Amino acid sequence: MFCTHCGKELSEGASFCSACGAPTGIRAEQPAQPQPAQPLAPQATPYYVPPQPSPKPALPANSFGIAGFIIAMASLFGAGIIPIVPIVGLVFSIIGMAKRKEYSLNGFALAGIIINAISFFVWLLVLIAYGFAFAYYWEQTIVFAAPLLF
Ligand SMILES: [Zn+2]
Repeated sequence: MFCTHCGKELSEGASFCSACGAPTGIRAEQPAQPQPAQPLAPQATPYYVPPQPSPKPALPANSFGIAGFIIAMASLFGAGIIPIVPIVGLVFSIIGMAKRKEYSLNGFALAGIIINAISFFVWLLVLIAYGFAFAYYWEQTIVFAAPLLF
């Protein structure tokens, strides 16, 4: 660049001509002003903020409870006639209920316990009824057959 006043070659970035002293139009670099320190934000909030409950991670569905519930449904629709079915369902449901803290959809476990228990209880009643009928049959048989034998 050259001085607009006298035409002398100037050093790059010079604010004034070194020969004639005319201003070159380039602003002299301002020394960096130290920024005034920002007033510190108050660290403590003046009012009590209750601790935010940390968002719970999404729990997996209670697979034990759901399995128990499915078995309970199967029991209701006839599989309960096989006594092991509601017992297995009850075991699954109880495991699901015991682990309910680790899972979501725990209602299936509770429903499974209730339905499987009812299913098992009904099966027990049927068994007892059959037992009485069976005993009665043999009693009658013995009553009628005994005189023939002796
Ligand atoms: Zn000049």
